[in-house]
Amino acid sequence: MTTLDTRAVHAGRDDLSALGVHVPPIDLSTTNPLPSVDAGGDAYELLATGGTLPADGTSAVYQRLWNPTVARFETALAELEGTTDAVAFASGMAALTAALLAATRDGKRHVVAVRPLYGGTDHVLATGLLGTEVSWARPAEVAAAVRPDTALVIVETPANPTLDLVDLTALAEAAGDVPLLVDNTVATPVLQQPARHGAALVLHSATKSIGGHGDVLAGVIACDAGWAARLRQVRAVTGAVLHPLGAYLLHRGLQTLPLRVRAQSAGAEKLAAWLAGHQAVQRVHHPSVADPAGLVGRQMSGTGSLLAFEVRGGSSAAATVANSCSLITHAVSLGGVDTLIQHPASLTHRPVEGEAKPGGGLLRISVGLEDPEDLRADLARALAAI
Ligand SMILES: *Cc1c(COP(=O)(O)O)cnc(C)c1O
Repeated sequence: MTTLDTRAVHAGRDDLSALGVHVPPIDLSTTNPLPSVDAGGDAYELLATGGTLPADGTSAVYQRLWNPTVARFETALAELEGTTDAVAFASGMAALTAALLAATRDGKRHVVAVRPLYGGTDHVLATGLLGTEVSWARPAEVAAAVRPDTALVIVETPANPTLDLVDLTALAEAAGDVPLLVDNTVATPVLQQPARHGAALVLHSATKSIGGHGDVLAGVIACDAGWAARLRQVRAVTGAVLHPLGAYLLHRGLQTLPLRVRAQSAGAEKLAAWLAGHQAVQRVHHPSVADPAGLVGRQMSGTGSLLAFEVRGGSSAAATVANSCSLITHAVSLGGVDTLIQHPASLTHRPVEGEAKPGGGLLRISVGLEDPEDLRADLARALAAI
């Protein structure tokens, strides 16, 4: 078995030589010629109920049901996550929506969720917009929170924006028979493969590190064949499909993902260490600074590109820092080649209610590929403006 770095370059490209091309073709067809009414009807039935396109020339029928460029990216992502299948969506939230719809069946609509979660995920669960009922639980409380009607356990590690780490093997055990969904957006498959620790569904906002260049909105879920069929069925019906041009860019993004993630993690570690010693900074959140359960090395092979820090002086001081950065862009999102800073309480985690809302002094940085020294100098200037 080749290493992840090698697979990232070659995954989803096995057939290219036979096709006589060096990079994957992009198929933009929204509809496909049907060989006959009967064969077209059979293909429609197969794909609309979550089946996959057989390699026998069966028509793909319609882009909402199947697209080969999207399927190529899914094959590659599944290989990196160590699952048999993956299903891609129009956004990370579309992927989460599909997971909730696919999981809540047979009268089961209760979800146990570990906070903190991405603000959008928190909002969907807290409002019950998709007909779910949520119980919030700390990792140690998950076993007690599971009920006979629990459809899913949801966790994010490293969590966004506090970068808390959760032991996935212990959590999967606590969830018992209930499937565990892990949002792996922040770690990426380079640093952590949750399916190897018992996750049934591994979700990514592919908008972030997988795309890596801030130009594709997408989501993807790595899982087994049974889940994939249910997710494809939901996708075909709800129409939250990924555009093939986006899939092409994500597939290309996977080739440099290991290099980007490691370089960005190294930059984040340098900045975290420097911030921890800065007089205007009260606390730094990054797995290189705090890993009480010793999960780096055991569950994660590195620390990641996302860090957060609390400035003294609360919201107004944090706003001054965000407004004063110049090399670092003041913007939401994460995992891209350039460094971004944002204020979670005002932006990404704005919909989060009560105690779960991040503190006013907290700022989140997604570290890019710039020289960490230049980033440090920009932050030093911004912190001096408080
Ligand atoms: C951005 C994000 C999402 C939502 O993804 P979109 O692509 O913006 O819909 C979900 N989870 C995490 C951890 C994220 O950072």
